[in-house]
Amino acid sequence: MGDTAESIRQKHEETAAEVVPEELGLFIGGEFVDAASGETFETRDPTTGDVLADVPAGGPEDVDRAVRAASEAYEGEWGEQGASDRQRLLHEIADRIEAERKAFAMLESLDNGKPTGESFGDVAVAADHFRFFAAATRLDEGITLPADDGPRHVSTVQEPFGVVGQITPWNFPLLMAAWKLAPALAAGNAVVLKPAEETPLSALKLAGILGDVLPDGAVNVVTGFGEEAGAPLTEHPDVGKVAFTGSTPVGKQVMKAAAERIADVTLELGGKSPLVVHPDVDVEKGVRAAVLAIFYNTGECCTAGSRLFVHEDVADEFLDALVEAAEGLTMGDPLERDTRLGPKVSPEQVDRTMSFVEDAREEGATFLTGGEPVEDPDLAGGSFVAPTIVEGLDHDSDTVQQEIFGPVLEVFRWDDYDEMMTLANDVDYGLAAGVLATDIETAYRTAKDIEAGTVWVNQYQDFPAGMPFGGYKQSGIGRETAFETVNHYTRTKSIDVSLR
Ligand code: NAD
Repeated sequence: MGDTAESIRQKHEETAAEVVPEELGLFIGGEFVDAASGETFETRDPTTGDVLADVPAGGPEDVDRAVRAASEAYEGEWGEQGASDRQRLLHEIADRIEAERKAFAMLESLDNGKPTGESFGDVAVAADHFRFFAAATRLDEGITLPADDGPRHVSTVQEPFGVVGQITPWNFPLLMAAWKLAPALAAGNAVVLKPAEETPLSALKLAGILGDVLPDGAVNVVTGFGEEAGAPLTEHPDVGKVAFTGSTPVGKQVMKAAAERIADVTLELGGKSPLVVHPDVDVEKGVRAAVLAIFYNTGECCTAGSRLFVHEDVADEFLDALVEAAEGLTMGDPLERDTRLGPKVSPEQVDRTMSFVEDAREEGATFLTGGEPVEDPDLAGGSFVAPTIVEGLDHDSDTVQQEIFGPVLEVFRWDDYDEMMTLANDVDYGLAAGVLATDIETAYRTAKDIEAGTVWVNQYQDFPAGMPFGGYKQSGIGRETAFETVNHYTRTKSIDVSLR
C-alpha cells in the first residue's frame, strides 16, 4: 500500500528538520543578514503545501548593498586570486557540494518537488560543473600578432567584467546556480545571484559553502521577487554583465534594462522543442527518449520535447507504447525512490498547465491519456498534474505555440518530410530538439534542418559539461556549460605596444 497524505507530511517534516539550513538570510559580504525592509516571504513544499521556511524578501537597497560587497571583493582579496588559486577554490566548492550531496538532494526535492533520483543527478552535475570550470581558469592564452610594419607587440588579454548579476529560475535551482556561478568565478568576476522566489533554499545552502571557501563578497545571494530584487540587479550601474535564465517575456525585460546602459547580457530562455520520429525508429529506445523528453522533471524543463512529430507508418505502434509508458510512471512523493513524477512547483503552476489543457479540450483535441485533475486523496494538498498526451491540435493555436512547462505532450502525425520540418520550425523558440531514427544519415539530415541550439539523436536531456547549451531564435543569446561560456564572462582587451 502507498503512503497516505499524513505519512507523506510526517516524512517531509522530519526531512525538512534535518536539511533546511539554519541560517537563511540574504548572503552579503560573507554574512547572512536580514532584508533592509525586514520583510520575508514563505517558501513552500509543493508535495504537502506546507511552509518550509521564511526567507528575506530583498529589495533595491539590498541589491545595492550586495553589489557594493561584490565590488569590494573584486577590488580586494577575490580580485587578487590568480588562475591557479581560482582553480583550487572551485575544486574545493565541488568537494563540499559532493560531501553534502544527500542534504542538497533532499532540500531540492522538498523545495522544488522533483524526485530524489533526479535531485541526486542535479547535485552531481552541479559539482561537476565547478570541476569543469576549474580547468577553464587556465585557458586564457590570448593572441599575439606576427610583427608587420615596424617594431611593435600586439597581444590580447581577457579581463573579467568585475561585478556580474545572475538571475535563475525554479526548475533546476541548484544546477542553474552552478551553471552560472562556476564560469563567472572561473573568469575572476564577483557575483550577485538572485535565485527564483519559489525555490531559494539550495542557493542559500550553497551560499554557506561559498562563504567558507571564497573571500567575503566574491558571491552574494539576494533572495526575493522578480520586480523587487531581480529588476534592480539588471538596472544597477555597477553591474557590468547580466546573465539570466528564465522565461522569454522576462528575458526581454532583462535585455531592455541592460540596453539602457549597454551592459553585456546572456539569456537562457524558454522552449517548445520538437521531437521528430522517423519510420525506422527503434520503438523501445525511442519511447524511452520521448518519456525523458516530456516527463523528466514533470515537464518543467526548458528543453522539454513537447511537440512530437511521428511518422504515419509507425504512429500507432509508437503512440500505444508511449501512452503505456506514461501511464506506468509512478506519480507521488518525491522522497520515495520509485517516484518518477513529483508535484509541480506550486499550485499556480498547476493552474497554468491545466488552463492550457482546458484550452486544448475546447479546441477539440483528443486526449490519449491524462488531461484530468489529480484527485488521489493520498496526494491531497500537493501540486500534481498527470502525464497528458493530446492529438489533433492546430499547430498555429496558442496551446501549441506557447511553452506549457508541464507534463503535456502535443502529437502531430506526418508523411511529408518538408511539410513536417516547416511545422517543427514554426515556433518562436529554438532551444532544443530530438530525432529518433535508426539510419544515421536520416537522423543527421533532420538534426541539421532543425533550428535549435541542441539536437539529441536517439536520446534526450543529456548535458555533458563541455557541450555548449543555449538557444536559437527567442530561446536566448549565448552558450552555457562549455569553455566558450567563460568568454561570456570576460572582455577582450588588445594591447598594442610600440617598440620604436
Ligand atoms: P521567470 O522568467 O518567471 O523567472 C526567472 C527569474 O527571473 C526568477 O528568479 C524571477 O524572480 C526573475 N524575474 C522575474 N521578473 C523579473 C524582472 N522583471 N527582472 C528581473 N528578474 C525577474 O521564469 P521561471 O518561471 O522561474 O522559470 C521557467 C522559465 O525558465 C521557462 O520559460 C524555462 O524554459 C526557462 N528556463 C530556461 C533554461 C535555459 O537554459 N534556456 C533553463 C531553465 C529554465
